[in-house]
Amino acid sequence: MDTDLKTFIRDVPDFPKPGILFKDITPLLRDSNAFAASVEALARPYADAGLVAVAAVEARGFIFAAALAARLDCGFIPLRKPNKLPSETAAVEYALEYGNDSIEVHRDAIQPGDRVALIDDVLATGGTAAAAVRLMDGLEADLIGISFLIELAGLDGRRHLQGRHVHAVLTYTE
Ligand code: AMP
Repeated sequence: MDTDLKTFIRDVPDFPKPGILFKDITPLLRDSNAFAASVEALARPYADAGLVAVAAVEARGFIFAAALAARLDCGFIPLRKPNKLPSETAAVEYALEYGNDSIEVHRDAIQPGDRVALIDDVLATGGTAAAAVRLMDGLEADLIGISFLIELAGLDGRRHLQGRHVHAVLTYTE
């Protein structure tokens, strides 16, 4: 199944800037079978995990995490760019493969001990995921796992996620 899903990922060289090989997931989203199979694959490690919520960083992470929350019958926690969330927030800063940013979460979205999984479309350098983990840890979530549709293994983002349960549906080694 992994090989089939890879046919729906479009490589776009030099986007959004020279040297980046962008993994475009829009063809996969456009195909009902591929999208559904992606959500099934993301759900597999959490079938009996008793998650109370999945958390994801905007924007592409939302697409998979929202579908996954419905599939797993749990909640969804948006991790957002600065100044988007209206109530009291916690925030962390991080470095991207291209640029810097920070993310925020509503403090009351997570209670200590909440069983949460973190979802994103792509694991590249791991900076985004590591920041999201810090955010979850800061609010004392019980982070059950971290899942990606795509892992760019050559960038070794997992080094920032040591000691965590990390899952990837599709792995690219170059
Ligand atoms: P990173 O923090 O480097 O792991 O970057 C992860 C975030 O940036 C993900 O949320 C992706 O949406 C996006 N991203 C980084 N590199 C790529 C890439 N080569 N193709 C597509 N998205 C990427």
